[in-house]
Amino acid sequence: MKNAHNLFGTLQEFETGPGRRGAFYSLPQLEQAGVGPVSRLPVCLRLVLESVLRNCDGKRVTEQNVRALANWKPAARRTEEIPFVVARIVLQDFTGVPLLVDLAAMRSAVARLGKDPKVIEPLVPVDLVVDHSVQVDFFGTPTAMQQNLEMEFRRNRERYQFLKWGMQAFDTFKVVSPGIGIVHQVNLEYLAKGLLGCPWTLNSQPSTLYYADTLVGTDSHTTMINGLGIVGWGVGGIEAEAGMLGQPVYLLTPDVVGVCLTGSLREGLTATDLALTVTQMLRNAKVVGKFVEFYGPGAAALPVVDRATVANMAPEYGATMGFFPIDAECVNYLRATGRSPEHCRTYENYYRAQGLFGMPAKGQIEYSVELELDLAAVTPSVAGPKRPQDRIELPNLKSEFVAALSKPVAENGFGKAAADLAKSFVVNIQDGFHPGGGSQEPVSRSQAEARNTNPFTELEMANNRPTPGPAGAMALPSEARIRHGSVLIAAITSCTNTSNPSVMLAAGLLAKKAVERGLRVNPLVKTSLAPGSRVVSDYLARTGLQPYLDQLGFNLVGYGCTTCIGNSGPLPAQVDEALAKYDLVAASVLSGNRNFEARIHQNIKANFLMSPPLVVAFALAGRVDIDLSRQPIGKGKDGRDVYLRDLWPSLQEVRDLLEAALKPEVFRQLYRDFAAQNPKWNEIPAPTGEVYQWDTRSTYIQEPPFFAHFGPRPGVIGEIKGARALGVFGDSVTTDHISPAGSIKKSSPAGQYLLEHGVASQDFNSYGSRRGNDRVMTRGTFANVRIKNLMAPGTEGGVTRCFARACPCPPGEVVPIYDAAMAYQKEGTPLLVIAGQEYGTGSSRDWAAKGTALLGVIAVVAQTYERIHRSNLVGMGVLPLQFKEGASAQTLGLDGAETYDVLGLGPGLKPQQDLTLRITRANGQVENVPVTCRIDTPVEVDYYQHGGILPFVLRQLLT
Ligand code: SF4
Repeated sequence: MKNAHNLFGTLQEFETGPGRRGAFYSLPQLEQAGVGPVSRLPVCLRLVLESVLRNCDGKRVTEQNVRALANWKPAARRTEEIPFVVARIVLQDFTGVPLLVDLAAMRSAVARLGKDPKVIEPLVPVDLVVDHSVQVDFFGTPTAMQQNLEMEFRRNRERYQFLKWGMQAFDTFKVVSPGIGIVHQVNLEYLAKGLLGCPWTLNSQPSTLYYADTLVGTDSHTTMINGLGIVGWGVGGIEAEAGMLGQPVYLLTPDVVGVCLTGSLREGLTATDLALTVTQMLRNAKVVGKFVEFYGPGAAALPVVDRATVANMAPEYGATMGFFPIDAECVNYLRATGRSPEHCRTYENYYRAQGLFGMPAKGQIEYSVELELDLAAVTPSVAGPKRPQDRIELPNLKSEFVAALSKPVAENGFGKAAADLAKSFVVNIQDGFHPGGGSQEPVSRSQAEARNTNPFTELEMANNRPTPGPAGAMALPSEARIRHGSVLIAAITSCTNTSNPSVMLAAGLLAKKAVERGLRVNPLVKTSLAPGSRVVSDYLARTGLQPYLDQLGFNLVGYGCTTCIGNSGPLPAQVDEALAKYDLVAASVLSGNRNFEARIHQNIKANFLMSPPLVVAFALAGRVDIDLSRQPIGKGKDGRDVYLRDLWPSLQEVRDLLEAALKPEVFRQLYRDFAAQNPKWNEIPAPTGEVYQWDTRSTYIQEPPFFAHFGPRPGVIGEIKGARALGVFGDSVTTDHISPAGSIKKSSPAGQYLLEHGVASQDFNSYGSRRGNDRVMTRGTFANVRIKNLMAPGTEGGVTRCFARACPCPPGEVVPIYDAAMAYQKEGTPLLVIAGQEYGTGSSRDWAAKGTALLGVIAVVAQTYERIHRSNLVGMGVLPLQFKEGASAQTLGLDGAETYDVLGLGPGLKPQQDLTLRITRANGQVENVPVTCRIDTPVEVDYYQHGGILPFVLRQLLT
């Protein structure tokens, strides 16, 4: 560490182990020096304070920053920003590849200016885990995983070559290759150390300066690591790039919500039930943008894996973090996952020396808001059909689904006649629906015909899945019935749950009992098991449970995000046809954390989040309109009804197997030398050189135009005049609506571009995997098939009404958003987007901001914003404006035919300043509407002025 200081005498020593000492920046000393009541601060804030203190250099971080945070007040007005220098950064490949593209583009820009490209180099360790690309093309057979992996490498070879270039070009950039695991689980099990150190000299002897492990990640669910007492959260890729290049991550001083957990979970309850309960409770408590800290006896009794499941869902409850303090459970977890005994001892001693070891009790810490949850009150839960916070008690799922089916679309329902639930339709599955054959050629059109049947006859079908033969081949029935509520995807997926051995073992135990009772999964259900690390496979094999999961079709499909990120792969053509033909509201059940429209699969409208054992149970039931607390799942081979309670494993049964799950030597063996274990990765040739040689023919990697007009000085902030609306949207427009991650439609502008560039439709891959190519991504912006632009009422998908003079169509014609944006760009018309509440909710996705900017949108006016998306917009030089309370596109009667000016913008712009939106309607009528500028901090004003974070950082580095 350079420029070490001893501010307030805080540079001290502690005993790391017998006879060994190390240095640290002492928080207790900060309090003793009278700087502030540090020991009363929430633990998560004290960890941030340690970073602020240690990195205090009088420039990026000042003594005033230290004093301000040490004197944090639970209920103060939040105006100060905290410069937070993180210890490391984690990336996944969907966000990591474009980030590396940006770094490569910066190096190219620097080289073009005749400077040393090596000035662009990450200053903190960066780990990228390739987990988002694998798709479930094959399933239900023993070879599914290998086949999906091969397909993944075939589709993503160019991206992986590029990553290998990054590994050799940047000293601190490391890659965990495909087929190893999911970023947050790999982080929890391996990358996170809990305590970091750098070389130091103590009494003229080589020693170590220790400091807290902190990070940001380019994925919303980075918060999983909060379960291990580590401060970290998701940021946009652009912010992460700035963090890599030496900028602190700036955050407005947060409120901290304390959640005192008491009691313990009742028999049969899972961490997933707890996470869904916490999500609903904290959404209602409006914790958006706040830190949440769990504490109390209930928290102390939760193992780290349960804490991680709850922490993982922080983005779903809207918090920046869902933090659990450090205690003996953390040491146990580090030890059990193969971290060395010496490291574990130093870890414990460090946090004891900092006064940070042990779960706080009620009253020890002052929080902004105090909440309480009795764990004994948690009940079996699922969430859906469209949002993770919409928790449903398991017995109510049937009635809730039936109600949602007939509720009007405007009220978030599906707008079907309730009587339609009684109709079912035949799907011919004889030739076309082979387990493991999801990507096979489509077969002849189904002979499906509508028939009125008793909805419950499908129960018999549910138990009719044939038994796999020795090679996993199944003797298939010739047809199956499909209807509203049919489960078509059942996925044990997502690091949220696969990092938790309790729920994974429970799924295996439930599968075992089901097989023993002779139950089978309906052949229409696409089943998959995608753990977040190979450790899961190890313990499922060692406990003898995997063969039972296999028999139900839950064969391993890969180690990656799969269905959780929308890579559920295709459904059989005849199922897709039936869904479209009969406009069915079919269901997916998954152990994931998000279920927004079209995220899981474009044609599946009702998506329910639940624990892995419930995923198996609903796959067996084959439908979601069933009350599993009272109705049988199916009939056993003895002809008797089998109920969920007959299959559900007891806590003791799970505990008996848990010991097999966490073996330190397994973690050590599986987390070493990835390259040697991955021949396919090794086969990929790595381009070399400090500056990337862009291949203009590539449809995956292109140099983005962000630095095309880069000059040494920033522009001057000025007012916006004569802008047009590109879209007027309602509430809860997600980043997936703005920049979808899933499949690319042939007829979409992005699909057309790929076809024109010689890419066959089966090789389109997903938007997520094409994020290294701005040409595809710009065309894909606002291209989600479910986005509804209120400018074109009655339409769905990425279209708008276009008023550009440069457009060949008549004014007001409905055209693809991309085409309209290009027409406006041609004539130099700036664009706005107008939106409702929670604009940009969902995954952190910087292409949602990058694509917006590249379409020519220079301002967004929304009622409220999701935290990361707002900052990403600023990071791309797009102005976020907010309507005043009570105002919206609807109250103002905006239909998108207006022109807009933004008045009051100028060089003296202040954070959160009031500005005026001048609306000129088509009839010439003018209205001035006050709006708040949601550039929230002084450094964001700088970013905005420079046209975004990247030009800002580049100018800093070059001067
Ligand atoms: S499994 Fe889901 S939550 Fe976890 S990193 Fe992947 S997409 Fe995110």
